[in-house]
Amino acid sequence: MPKPVKLMETLIHDVVIIGAGMAGLRAAIAAANLSNKVDVAVISKVYPVRSHSVCAQGGSAAMLREGDSNDLHAWDTIKGSDFLADQDVVEYFVKQAPQEIIALDHWGCPWSRTKDGKINQRPFGGHSFPRACFAADMTGFYEMHTLDGKAKTYDNIKFFDEWFATSLIIDDGFVAGLTALELKTGRMMIFRAKAIIMATGGYARIYEFTTFSHTATGDGMTMAYRAGVPLKDMEFIQFHPTGMVPSGILITGGARGEGGYLINAKGERFMKHYAPEKMELAPRDIVSRAETTEIEEGRGFNGPYGPYIALDLRHLGEEKINERLPLIRDVAIKLSGVDPVREPIPIKPAAHYSMGGIHANIKTETPISGFYTAGECACLNVHGANRLGTNSTSDCLVFGTVAGEEAAKFSLSHDYRDVSIGNVLSEEKRIFDEILGSEGDEKVPVIRDELRRIMSEKAWVFRKGNGLESALKAVQELKKRYKNIRVEDKDSQFNTDLVGALQLDFTLDLSEITISAALARTESRGAHTRLDYPKRDDENWLKHSLAYWSKEGPELRYIPVTIAKWPPSARTY
Ligand SMILES: Cc1cc2nc3c(=O)[nH]c(=O)nc-3n(C[C@H](O)[C@H](O)[C@H](O)COP(=O)(O)OP(=O)(O)OC[C@H]3O[C@@H](n4cnc5c(N)ncnc54)[C@H](O)[C@@H]3O)c2cc1C
Repeated sequence: MPKPVKLMETLIHDVVIIGAGMAGLRAAIAAANLSNKVDVAVISKVYPVRSHSVCAQGGSAAMLREGDSNDLHAWDTIKGSDFLADQDVVEYFVKQAPQEIIALDHWGCPWSRTKDGKINQRPFGGHSFPRACFAADMTGFYEMHTLDGKAKTYDNIKFFDEWFATSLIIDDGFVAGLTALELKTGRMMIFRAKAIIMATGGYARIYEFTTFSHTATGDGMTMAYRAGVPLKDMEFIQFHPTGMVPSGILITGGARGEGGYLINAKGERFMKHYAPEKMELAPRDIVSRAETTEIEEGRGFNGPYGPYIALDLRHLGEEKINERLPLIRDVAIKLSGVDPVREPIPIKPAAHYSMGGIHANIKTETPISGFYTAGECACLNVHGANRLGTNSTSDCLVFGTVAGEEAAKFSLSHDYRDVSIGNVLSEEKRIFDEILGSEGDEKVPVIRDELRRIMSEKAWVFRKGNGLESALKAVQELKKRYKNIRVEDKDSQFNTDLVGALQLDFTLDLSEITISAALARTESRGAHTRLDYPKRDDENWLKHSLAYWSKEGPELRYIPVTIAKWPPSARTY
């Protein structure tokens, strides 16, 4: 048994998973299932079924039918990625995805069915075969409840709901544990673990107009970065073409999969000018650029919240909308005052997904021994410069399983590492003295709004070198101002003010990294579009960026992309 650390209460578990979204829950099941000797803990800042994964609407991609093939799914993913995906990882991903869908089926996921009882699949942007398995337009909700129910059947999984992880503890190249706040009491605790899996999701909340939950602040990415693990391909942020105006709530790509049209103010299906074959079902980067161009060239509709594009579902008819897109009809009526049976829905591009994340290999291993990562916070790299819709939830399932099994195996053959008291004390000082105790005059919401404004103006769908340079300076300025914040609530129980301050701290680093990597990449690829470098440049830029923490800010290095069967070619739809 490990030596106890005296200062704070210490909890001890073989495998600790940070995050109870789709990747975290799937990892927990896999780890617990590998051996009942492995004692698993799952820490989550919200209740598991409030993780962002429950919001997934459109579906999960997998090859299930004749006419489709693993190679076709892999090719679509690689072409969609603008050839930045690692092809060995993609091949593994598409091979494993079907069995994950079947596993969920066996555990009770109520997939939508065809008339003959098979799991139904719908078309989706960038996929050349209808391979999105769905449960109406609430796929993530049903998948998450299925996983949560299954995880709770294991005696060797313990849940720590409403606990907020703040930092990783490393011992000589091995993971040793982490610090976390129990939100109910405000106490800081140490978790010691033989293996840790980071599954904390994305960070789209660095933007104002986003489809993401308020929890998507990339905490785990920053924790890993500060612990010395590089973040990979952080310049690539996905903008989803159909964020509903004004809330940013997602209208699933499934609405276009079911046959919805995108129209400009002239009533024209403008996608014919941008992707004549795939039209509305082109990948997201292409459709988001098309919409932004239509708006910037004055062909958007005018509304109280600025110009927008319309998503027209009227021709699908009430019956199909009610059967296939009930949630979409409900949210459009409630949050935009528009009934899609009768009127088009106002939409525009919204920040939606982070292709980048914690650097890890096909086995979800990071450069720190015993430290694994899966889901949206990880970058393995399946999605390259642009993810295809419905590939993320499948990625969470496939690599959640890998991470769970790998971490469990590691824990069976390794011992606990020492936790340095110095590390723990400095984290305690950072949280309680420097953040909670700070009596400065800067307000967290003011810095947060300013950060989101900068990112939305300068690091959006279209980017320019001088805009990114000024954004970088502005974010660095905000980091200085952050040192002078004041957290108004000084209480210990459920201090959401403190949580907000800690999340802002994480997003400041992530914004700085995103801008730095975007500034360095002088080409346009996938979701990263530089107006001053409009072409893809394979000669110089067919490589992954790695951002390492340094005192002066992110230090960028590069590694090659793994190309297997599919050499880069022109990307047309
Ligand atoms: C509206 C919407 C619709 C989408 N639709 C689809 C779709 O149809 N198909 C598809 O494939 N993809 C879809 N996506 C993308 C996909 O849902 C996500 O990429 C995926 O679900 C992320 O899962 P995850 O497990 O990585 O993270 P999440 O589900 O975001 O979970 C993160 C977990 O980490 C925990 N956590 C975070 N920080 C901390 C901390 N500091 N301490 C403790 N716990 C922490 C949270 O509590 C949470 O449990 C959609 C995304 C959105 C926003």
